[in-house]
Amino acid sequence: MSLLTDVHLPAVQLVSVTKRYPGAPGRGPVLDEVTLGFPERAMTAVMGPSGSGKTTLLHCAAGLDRPDSGQVYLGDTDLADCDESALTEIRRSRIGFVFQQFNLLPMLTAFENVALPLRLRGHRVSGSAVEEALRRVGLADRAGHRPAQLSGGQQQRVAIARTLIGEPEIVYADEPTGSLDRASGRQVMRLLRDLVDADGRTVVVVTHDPVAAAFADRVVFFVDGGIRGMLEEPTPDRVAARISAWEA
Ligand code: ADP
Ligand code: MG
Repeated sequence: MSLLTDVHLPAVQLVSVTKRYPGAPGRGPVLDEVTLGFPERAMTAVMGPSGSGKTTLLHCAAGLDRPDSGQVYLGDTDLADCDESALTEIRRSRIGFVFQQFNLLPMLTAFENVALPLRLRGHRVSGSAVEEALRRVGLADRAGHRPAQLSGGQQQRVAIARTLIGEPEIVYADEPTGSLDRASGRQVMRLLRDLVDADGRTVVVVTHDPVAAAFADRVVFFVDGGIRGMLEEPTPDRVAARISAWEA
């Protein structure tokens, strides 16, 4: 048992989670009895080859998709006990999601994109909260810009500000630096790291980049729908060595 798991309870716990997609006969399950916890107030990186089930893992952990069997617990809540409206409420109030392609609405300004989750919930939008979220990601002076007027890195930082406005306990980021240049990618990883260190949130990030993965407290290596190893306190070199070992 690592120090990490001794000190931090899991914010999310998957127990023997199996997921199959119909129409893929002859293929094993996309998730094959996965048992894994994401420790609270820590960053976990998930790495693995394309098609190994990482996105499906995140979707099941976030209540965006339901496993065929096994349990997903968010704190004490078993997501299987939640109907669709309860799951929607959990996703809105407790979970943030950051995507590789940012998923900003092109007609809206940065300010409006960040405010959107509040508006969709029917909350009054506090301009100062939106400005604070943009300031947090270093974009206070870009509030009136639309996505097309921003760089990829800036767009991803707007997407992070949009998750912050919901005060999520858990932020899932699916290849958040996959479309970014190296410097922008580091900036995004530093912001995600800061959500853990400054706010005490739980962050789970899928990445192919050993340098990005080294921002995490722990790396989970995922192959063919199952866990093939973990690395605590990763460094880029140790992560790269592990990847080349199972790619060989
Ligand atoms: P990764 O994120 O590691 O690349 P995914 O979780 O996206 O992997 O996909 C794992 C496997 O499941 C792939 O073979 C993919 O084609 C399949 N898959 C993913 N989503 C669906 C879906 N909605 N319907 C059918 N097959 C899917
Ligand atoms: Mg994926």
